[in-house]
Amino acid sequence: MIIAHTIPELLRLRKAIDAIVGFVPTMGGIHAGHLGLIQEARKDNETVLASVFLNPKQFTEAKDFQQYQRDLTRDCQLLREAGVDLAFVPEIAEMYPENFQTYVEVEQLSKCWEGAARPGHFRAVATVVTILLNIAQPDRAYFGQKDIQQVAVIRRMVRDLRIPTEIIVVPTYRAKDGLALSTRNHLLSTEDRKRANSIYGALSAVMAAYENEVRDVDDLRHILRETLARGKITRIDYADIVDVQTLKPLQGALTDEAVALVLVAAHLGQTRLIDNCLIPAHKNNRADLTRLFE
Ligand code: AMP
Repeated sequence: MIIAHTIPELLRLRKAIDAIVGFVPTMGGIHAGHLGLIQEARKDNETVLASVFLNPKQFTEAKDFQQYQRDLTRDCQLLREAGVDLAFVPEIAEMYPENFQTYVEVEQLSKCWEGAARPGHFRAVATVVTILLNIAQPDRAYFGQKDIQQVAVIRRMVRDLRIPTEIIVVPTYRAKDGLALSTRNHLLSTEDRKRANSIYGALSAVMAAYENEVRDVDDLRHILRETLARGKITRIDYADIVDVQTLKPLQGALTDEAVALVLVAAHLGQTRLIDNCLIPAHKNNRADLTRLFE
């Protein structure tokens, strides 16, 4: 695996690649979810490029940024073992030189849910992803369902700015008990880690209710919130059932053809976790996710 630290280095290496390139951007703290994205990229592309850049601008809380796992040696080792060909690991000043002042804003999709809880977050995400796609020039880029609103924002941005990269959405990788893998999970106390699986428990309850013909969105919403409460997930930022395209809360009854998105964000101790699923449950696969966010 070749490691590029600067943009000129990456551009030079990229120019020399005459093959189909798949790109997996990360913030480091590499876990099996990231490795899953890399595996998908390896299936589809001749060359796999990954980046590790802990983007300070997308953190809305200083403590969250400070606590974030940083171990570039470990991350590079894991990326190498996963079969990444080229890793881009820039310093902050490389990405944001003095006098940097240009930002990308996806107006509507950035405002709700994560955007409301973390103002400026998606503006920073859209900006850094634009920079990364501009310099990596990948044929395909891989993003996780775990951050589904991020997928919606990036998909819209890539369309609006005519960025010639195909966006692939990879389903969420989970721990054995259902908890979505995340770099922040290791910050959970033993007690909080135990009850954290109740988030997926609540998503599963909604998927099961849907399978049992519950179609009224308010009934499904009630099941979601009740199950979270029973699982002792009480500090909830949001728990809702929304339209996949607009991310607006749904009302009434779901038709048999409809696909809805179930979103949860909750605090456990000092840690904030997010998770989501599509209903019906069989839609939570790469092909359907990628198509839904086309
Ligand atoms: P991050 O380093 O957290 O910014 O994540 C980098 C990429 O990995 C993003 O596209 C995430 O959505 C994706 N990702 C993170 N955790 C998971 C997971 N558990 N399953 C699938 N994708 C994930």
